[in-house]
Amino acid sequence: MTSSPADDLGPTLRRLRLRRGMTQRQLADAAGTHVTHVSRVESGERVTVSRELLERLGDNIDGLAELTAAAGRVPARAERAISQFPDALENAVLEARTLPALRRLTAAARAQYLLARTPGGAVEGGRIEPKALCRQLKLQPVVGLADNGPPITFEGRQVIVTDPGQHGDPASLPRIRFLIAHAAAHALDEQLSCLFPRMGSGEELTCDVAAHLLCPPNLLEGAFRSAVLEAGPEAGDPWASDVGAVVTAVARQLGVPGWIAIRRLADEALLDDEALYYTLGDRP
Ligand SMILES: [Zn+2]
Repeated sequence: MTSSPADDLGPTLRRLRLRRGMTQRQLADAAGTHVTHVSRVESGERVTVSRELLERLGDNIDGLAELTAAAGRVPARAERAISQFPDALENAVLEARTLPALRRLTAAARAQYLLARTPGGAVEGGRIEPKALCRQLKLQPVVGLADNGPPITFEGRQVIVTDPGQHGDPASLPRIRFLIAHAAAHALDEQLSCLFPRMGSGEELTCDVAAHLLCPPNLLEGAFRSAVLEAGPEAGDPWASDVGAVVTAVARQLGVPGWIAIRRLADEALLDDEALYYTLGDRP
């Protein structure tokens, strides 16, 4: 039986740390994280570590390559390098453990491709305007009345987005914006059909692309900084109890559903994903 990241990461971190003669607290301080985090990772209680933190831990114990291999992750530096050459990801032989990281990279590259080609109007008031993305793709989104039909239906180049919530409810806007961006993500690949919310492997990539489209790194970082300012300096600590307020503020500012904000904040290592799931619960 092959071992899983859960089996490998904790013992490897512990072994490399002891080899350097460091205590958990010394390593946590050097890597800029909380000692609780280091101890939970080593004990195997928590196995999710953001790529940025993994890099800082690895650098401080001279074991980045070993540590990222044990975690089943692509090192952040390698991710950045690969992201410059998205074609290299096509038909790559992918290991199951590194597949999610590579899928996120592919999603980011596709989103950047579309965003870079959408002239004026894609960014409006600090957030992305999904309808501008659709115009670029010659897609016509129409928001339909709420019924029990599928959330996204394609009829040729026209896409009918149906919000499952109450018609006219302002709280439904983030959902509608996500569904329109999701349709644009399909159209980017010339796919004029959608299975959402059935989450097969194809839908997962489309969800990732849509999330990147709505929260590109520059806007996400800006929203995160102002949310932390608003919530107080302590909120920048991923272990602070008001991390939920930051996530909510980021979601509101970018006009996206909360689960997308959580996912993107973790992707960009603005808030540590382990701490996010610990604080907010294991939601999608
Ligand atoms: Zn879809």
